[in-house]
Amino acid sequence: MTKRAYNFNAGPAALPLAVLERAQAQFVDFKETGMSIMEMSHRGKVYEEVHHEASSRLLGLLGNPKGYKVLFLQGGATTQFAMIPMNLLSEGKTAGYVKTGSWANKAIKEAKLLGSTFIAASSEEDKYMSIPDVSKLSLPENTAYLHLTSNETIEGTQFRQFPDTGGVPLIADMSSDILCRPFDLNQFGLVYAGAQKNLGPSGVTVVIAREELLQNSPAHLPTYFRYDTHAENDSLYNTPPSFGIYMVNEVLKWIEEQGALAGIEAKNQTKADLLYGTIDQSGGFYRGCANPKDRSIMNVTFRLGSEELEKQFIKQSEAEGFVGLKGHRSVGGLRASIYNAVPYESVKALTDFMADFQKQHG
Ligand code: PMP
Repeated sequence: MTKRAYNFNAGPAALPLAVLERAQAQFVDFKETGMSIMEMSHRGKVYEEVHHEASSRLLGLLGNPKGYKVLFLQGGATTQFAMIPMNLLSEGKTAGYVKTGSWANKAIKEAKLLGSTFIAASSEEDKYMSIPDVSKLSLPENTAYLHLTSNETIEGTQFRQFPDTGGVPLIADMSSDILCRPFDLNQFGLVYAGAQKNLGPSGVTVVIAREELLQNSPAHLPTYFRYDTHAENDSLYNTPPSFGIYMVNEVLKWIEEQGALAGIEAKNQTKADLLYGTIDQSGGFYRGCANPKDRSIMNVTFRLGSEELEKQFIKQSEAEGFVGLKGHRSVGGLRASIYNAVPYESVKALTDFMADFQKQHG
């Protein structure tokens, strides 16, 4: 049997073994075509079937809400930071941003280059260790949209509830928690995510949006950057990242097999409870970074008593087969990313390692 690492990478990240094995079995000869899916035309029937299946499967997992469309794009979530204001922030309007940490700030930076913005809520004063209260936001009448980051991958915080924005479209960067739990797509005008955490390999970006937001791109925008280009052409205007989209479809099948989003959420909660439990019951040896009520069930950030000890933790964990536990270079500390595809066994092995490490160094 293949030896798999205990993979806690933040992204690209662990994929379900069952998906990798299925892809391996189909790699050289996809559906008796004598070709890999990577080798065939994106205009052919065989690929197109996979392409459309991926998009309908995704909407299916979200309960098939009326009036939404899926786009498969390239350029990562980072390109969406710019495409959103390019397409949706017109002259005379302003865009609201919830400032929750590193990724929200990157989205804000791009929007500022393109138009008028305001900070609708912020947890900066709290060093981004919490999610601000968004239950009573006051949005100016000319607000084009409100943007939030549902899960801050670096700080390890996550929204539990989303604001009611009335008629203002709510937009969410769900890169690091999409499909980790059920959510009501009807609350959102547009959500987007790079695939490389919960959906598949890097190279595909998923946008799911209300159709009316995909229809009115300003005339001056170059073709690829227009949402209407991709909406009108079912994400086949130019060559799509076909292998990545095939992998997304396989990951979505796997999610269905896990009991869909409710099943996935239960598994994610069990893993997060085990890991946060180990941190909280360590008598202060391990300290969780995020405010407990805003903790992410995807990215668990924690610290040890000294940077020296953290270095030791990383070194020793690597020697025992754990990968990706170093915190982001901008904040330091430790981070375990426990996305959908990270098996319970990996988290159990990590908590056993943490207990042993505490015995040795506590
Ligand atoms: N937003 C969030 C929340 C992320 O975690 C990331 C990637 N770590 C990005 C945006 C940027 O994504 P990409 O690298 O796909 O552009």
